[in-house]
Amino acid sequence: MSAASVITPLTKRYGESVDTYFSGSPLNRVSFLRNDYTFLSSALTHPTTKFMLMEKLEPAIDTATGTLKYYTYSDVKDAIGNPFEKPESEAVAAWDSSKTAPLMVFLGIDESVKDGVTYGEYSGQAIFALDVTAPTSELATYASTIAELVKKAVDADAPFTLVRRNFVLSPGEAAIYAMARSYLDWNVRNPFCAGCGAPTMSVNGGAKRVCPPTDKGVEKGPCPSRGVVTNISFPRSDPTIIVAVVNSTGDKLLLGRNKRFPPKFYSCLAGFCEPGESIEEAVRREVWEESGVKLGKVAIYASQPWPYPASLMVGAIAEAIPDGEGIHLEHDPELGDAQWFPFPVVQAALKVAEQNNILDFTDTPTELPIKLPPSKAIAHNLIHAVVFDNAHLPKI
Ligand SMILES: [Zn+2]
Repeated sequence: MSAASVITPLTKRYGESVDTYFSGSPLNRVSFLRNDYTFLSSALTHPTTKFMLMEKLEPAIDTATGTLKYYTYSDVKDAIGNPFEKPESEAVAAWDSSKTAPLMVFLGIDESVKDGVTYGEYSGQAIFALDVTAPTSELATYASTIAELVKKAVDADAPFTLVRRNFVLSPGEAAIYAMARSYLDWNVRNPFCAGCGAPTMSVNGGAKRVCPPTDKGVEKGPCPSRGVVTNISFPRSDPTIIVAVVNSTGDKLLLGRNKRFPPKFYSCLAGFCEPGESIEEAVRREVWEESGVKLGKVAIYASQPWPYPASLMVGAIAEAIPDGEGIHLEHDPELGDAQWFPFPVVQAALKVAEQNNILDFTDTPTELPIKLPPSKAIAHNLIHAVVFDNAHLPKI
């Protein structure tokens, strides 16, 4: 859910909410209804409900409109049936690991659509993501119906499209895609129980996997994941920090060039947050390890889900301490270069990057000394917040 645009004491002190690309979903996830199979069954079979198809984690996109290509329940019924006919507890009790089914995830309801599924006080158009990747198991009885769906999408000029470097989707659709991709990817990667190695079962509309106590009616051996509160495996999000670092006089920005980047391509410093570490500590550690710069205050500015596969980029703005601005690249040899750039240099490069919809790692020539990430990347948001909006200065 994105924020309502209202000026309040909090927005006056910290600024308005920032919706980054891949966030700002138009859907209400109604996560508390995921274990209610009466609801899921109504949502699944409702005539307005939409199904996005994903093959190898990439969505079918209509070439003509640049939007997600959706299908109805009648289109996908032969492939998926109705896995929500029985209550979840009965489905778990009837678990048969030899019966495979396509992966499907309930994403939420779009409450702006008035003729969608209604359930108690909740109403809207339901959206599901359906994995149409060809199954590798010879036991998969749904292989041919899934293959037909793939052909249907391709014939309708809606090919499965790599979104990672070509941000064609509108922000709302990008957020729906990001959720679908992360959930499907997590399901694909967790077919077996981490506690006992037995096959796991997708429940909660694809948002949880369990290790059922029986398989084909036969009791399984003991499993540590079937304790009172541990019979669960939930999707993960990996916290990653990314930071715009300002010098102590507030007129230069620290940018780094990864060794893999083409010449002139600079960005904010970033890295994974480690266990037992706060976001602020991770920012200070990563910046020191990669550039040698020592930081004082770290302020969290905005965050961005990055569904490759499940990162949550936490964007920060930070200040270097006056005697900690020296650059030293030898601790962690990840960066090929790091430099302090005066704001006017960064502003000029950012204006060029704003026009770019593609994460351009090609070595296209530029007259400017640096190239920066495109507007859909949180690095761009962070740099913009500092060099154009003075997010590092006191509010007047
Ligand atoms: Zn188990």
